[in-house]
Amino acid sequence: MNIICAKCGVTNNVENDSYCQNCSTLLENYCTNLNCILNDGEYPETCGPANCICIWCGCETTHYVSGILKPQKIDNDEMEL
Ligand SMILES: [Zn+2]
Ligand SMILES: [Zn+2]
Repeated sequence: MNIICAKCGVTNNVENDSYCQNCSTLLENYCTNLNCILNDGEYPETCGPANCICIWCGCETTHYVSGILKPQKIDNDEMEL
């Protein structure tokens, strides 16, 4: 399965690559909270590639901190708070 680079959009990176072969961006998106359960084991586990925020602890992800990802703006008039 190919991995799309979150920064440049190149699609020919493969699953075990760590860095984009086109722009050297880290392909995987990690939680920045070192105490998060994702970072608890011997190797850190990745957040979803499009996640700005870790869904486990609510901290920012590495892609978000490095400016690759921006929070989506969703206009949904039907949604009531
Ligand atoms: Zn790239
Ligand atoms: Zn986390």
